[in-house]
Amino acid sequence: MEISQELADLEWIPRPRLTALRRLGIITVEDLLTHFPRRYEDRHEFPEFPREESDVPICLCGEVVKTQLRRFGGWKKIFEATLQETNANALSQPLVCRWFNLHYVQKMIATGQKLVVFGKPRLRGKRICIDHPEFEVIETDDEISIHFRRITPIYPATEGVNQRLLRSIAFRLLREVSEEPLETMAPAALVNGDRRSAIQEIHFPNSWESLKSAREHLVLSEFFALQMLIASRRTECRARGGEAHCGSGKLQEEFVQSLPFELTDAQRKVISEIRRDLDRTEPMNRLLQGDVGSGKTVVAISAMLLAIEAGFQAALMAPTQILAEQHYAVLRQFLEPLGVRLSLRTAARQEDNAPLPLFDRTETNNEIQGRERYPGSADVPGRDDTTETRDACATRGQTQIDASQIIIGTHALLYEKVSFSNLGLVVIDEQHKFGVAQRARLTAREPAPDVLVMTATPIPRTLTMTVYGDLDVSVIDEMPRNRGKIVTAVRGETKLGEVLSFLRAQLDAGRQAYVIYPLIDESEKLEVKAAATEFEKWRDRLRPFRCELLHGRIPMPEKQPTMERFRRGQSQVLISTTVIEVGVDVPNATVLLVENAERFGLAQLHQLRGRIGRAQHRSYCILLTSDRSNETMTKLSILEKTNNGFEIAEADWDLRGPGDLLGTAQSGLPALKIGDLKKDASLMRRARAAAMSIYDKDPRLDLPENQRFRQLIVEEQGRIFSNVS
Ligand code: ADP
Ligand code: MG
Repeated sequence: MEISQELADLEWIPRPRLTALRRLGIITVEDLLTHFPRRYEDRHEFPEFPREESDVPICLCGEVVKTQLRRFGGWKKIFEATLQETNANALSQPLVCRWFNLHYVQKMIATGQKLVVFGKPRLRGKRICIDHPEFEVIETDDEISIHFRRITPIYPATEGVNQRLLRSIAFRLLREVSEEPLETMAPAALVNGDRRSAIQEIHFPNSWESLKSAREHLVLSEFFALQMLIASRRTECRARGGEAHCGSGKLQEEFVQSLPFELTDAQRKVISEIRRDLDRTEPMNRLLQGDVGSGKTVVAISAMLLAIEAGFQAALMAPTQILAEQHYAVLRQFLEPLGVRLSLRTAARQEDNAPLPLFDRTETNNEIQGRERYPGSADVPGRDDTTETRDACATRGQTQIDASQIIIGTHALLYEKVSFSNLGLVVIDEQHKFGVAQRARLTAREPAPDVLVMTATPIPRTLTMTVYGDLDVSVIDEMPRNRGKIVTAVRGETKLGEVLSFLRAQLDAGRQAYVIYPLIDESEKLEVKAAATEFEKWRDRLRPFRCELLHGRIPMPEKQPTMERFRRGQSQVLISTTVIEVGVDVPNATVLLVENAERFGLAQLHQLRGRIGRAQHRSYCILLTSDRSNETMTKLSILEKTNNGFEIAEADWDLRGPGDLLGTAQSGLPALKIGDLKKDASLMRRARAAAMSIYDKDPRLDLPENQRFRQLIVEEQGRIFSNVS
């Protein structure tokens, strides 16, 4: 039997089960053999019958000496089977197995049979009982050895597919699948042994040690395949034609001089890393990681100035319209004095399959045009377009974009029906809102623009080398020096009175505040206070200070002025949903009050907290919650303890697991079947090193010994497509 064979071709598998297996994504023999156990139970037979209770389930074997059916409460029944140890002695106690209301069990068990059972022994009166044990009547030793008297696999199951079925099928397939070893798709230097024995052992381990090495084999192979895919993308990207997009640096220097502060060393370091990339002809693909408030915008501006100085256009894409508007305002303030022409594009057209006209080079002689365009002049069409509508935007279209050196917009820019004549650099802000597939769109064109992706979501290192494995990484690991401390406190909703007077004191001192709610409208189901209703209350509570309301359903023409008034200090308090989560920068705001804080994730709260502590004033983050559960308290207290985004990311990972970071359309990577990104971090490092070394020596996988890896990559790509659909 071949592993590619469909289970449907095997007559011994009951037909109704096939449908159920299909629900688990199991169609072929290989699918079943790579449906790996989720955990194992030690069902080695216990040497003797227990005399005490045990919280650990144990496996026992004995002879049925008595069966009994008892009724209680009218129609309810208990079936009891008493087992006697095979080598019973004076001290042994019989074991009573009990089943409540399970008809079929009494038909299966009779006096004189030998039974193997697995469960937790409990003391019931004077008797030792196991309720609802897993059991098997011993007829042939073969069947027993699948389910009991061993380290027994427990699989992810579903309705219509139980453990016994999965085990039995796996057992039989392993016996019948052709003897020759399955090819291990990883270099021999990386993994030990062959794949076939590893698969055998992962289902039916002979010992805990052999299980461990089998698992390692399979995890390494899986990680290796993943890293080969990542390496192939990376290589493909580099091989694509690009251009150098780096000017002399004079303009950038001027900009840095004009800043009211000194760059941090970390900012300088990453700017020079980016500069080196811009100077090369291979396209840049760089991830810039820096905690909230570490000053990524200045780095982005520097990069863009280098590019436009070389005669190219640069685009800055933000995940939300608010953020795009903010970037536009900030950039105008800094760059217009330097004569740089900017424009804002925020009209959105987000059909996912729309072509990418942005990168269609419809014009031919762009480059020359582009280079002539710098140095900039003052005639900037579309300067006052902050509130322009989509239609106005569309009609003005091409001229405006063509004349601009820096175009700021939302991610929807990707799908805009405008062609950039001469795009050299794309900066994507706050990548965690931006899928990998979208990123791929960007780099698919030739000549490819340089791409700088910025994220404030610190992700643990092992995840970086996977989720962003195809990018070079720069890290801003230092905060600007002038920052006031942020104090974080978790408070019960009952403390609202005290919180309120504290808030007033801050407002009296001239500061501003955010009040954050999880939802917009009050929903009957979730009894969550909602910004819209609470807004009225806050206005009364905080009179005479001016409160304003901001949430996602407020139309943009109103949203923008609201934000602007807050930025200028004309309003003091912003009652808002998480629309302010990313990037919003109002340095005078020093209080962040989060209602129903338990409803937010750690990473999100950290992002929100990044709205304060952005200047020299001491800032306060108050997390209000009425949920005193352990889970909530553990989560929120992490924020009280640390302000370090990386520590929070690690803690978040511990609490929640990597979630959906891998495995779906978002990451553009296949789901993992056995490896665990956290537990197996060191294996990931080894797999990555192995993949990189193959690509270093043979970037196009031309060598005969590397042909099998080509196939591997094609297969991996296939898995992604089947995942997405
Ligand atoms: P983020 O990395 O979260 O995007 P921003 O780029 O918005 O952070 O920067 C946060 C604030 O810090 C801004 O007001 C910015 O002007 C300021 N800033 C940036 N770099 C420095 C620095 N080196 N020293 C002092 N303030 C800085
Ligand atoms: Mg930012």
